Amino acid sequence: MKVIYKNKTYKSYQDLFNKEYENKPITLLTNGESNSKLKKGITKKMSVKIMHLLPHNEADELMERPVKRTLCAYAIAGNCWKTCLNTAGRGGITKKGETTNSIQLARLRRTLFYWDNRQGFLTQLHKEIQKFVTKCEKNNIKPCIRLNGTSDVQWEYELHEGKNMFEHFPEVQFYDYTKIPTRKVSEYKNYHLTWSYSEAKDKYAKLFDKVPYNKAVVFRDKELPNMFKGLKVIDGDKTDMRFLDESNVVVGLKAKGKARKDYTGFVIDAVQI
Ligand code: SF4
Repeated sequence: MKVIYKNKTYKSYQDLFNKEYENKPITLLTNGESNSKLKKGITKKMSVKIMHLLPHNEADELMERPVKRTLCAYAIAGNCWKTCLNTAGRGGITKKGETTNSIQLARLRRTLFYWDNRQGFLTQLHKEIQKFVTKCEKNNIKPCIRLNGTSDVQWEYELHEGKNMFEHFPEVQFYDYTKIPTRKVSEYKNYHLTWSYSEAKDKYAKLFDKVPYNKAVVFRDKELPNMFKGLKVIDGDKTDMRFLDESNVVVGLKAKGKARKDYTGFVIDAVQI
């Protein structure tokens, strides 16, 4: 797969990495304050970091690897990989004549690090979280982290020195959206999950009543409904700090950009309510 980046042409992504990035370190966590959606809900008493990987099997696809592993176990069942936020905002903008951008390349490099050197990846993640926690403690603010900015990894199973990150850092408020209805994380009081609903497949949609988390639903209409499937709808666009939401509600999100034209069942029309 030919890649054109910064006025240079490479035979493949592997060729680009060999020439430009060999042995160059990559930062895993980025500042939430620089993300317009995340920024909205951040108060002076908290600071947010987010990690962006490449969703589903995109890393293996781009690297033209024979086996395509996925970071999003329900990307097919939820039919969300085509409308994934990975290419929303600056992440989807490439310069004229180029085929990729620095944001997508950084996500690809992090994802390859995750797949190819899991313990190295988790050791670095632990270090970066520790640094962030120390800084927050110094400034007397709450550290908050979203590990799945554009992925759906079950971090509860990713162990570094025998413990996952939620156990290593009980002082951090972790939070994520997930498409995986079977995740069991209630034992981690510092990890908040919101389940991302979709009507792309009947079987998946039927899980609505069984999933024990708040549900995020994307509506096409400009006005959110008051209720959805018997639950109160709150405005999820006011903040991204989902762990502040009351329990047992639908987090209503308005479809943006390309998603307004999504008819896969991910975006819900008000007439269906
Ligand atoms: S599970 Fe989330 S991150 Fe993964 S493809 Fe679907 S929308 Fe994107």
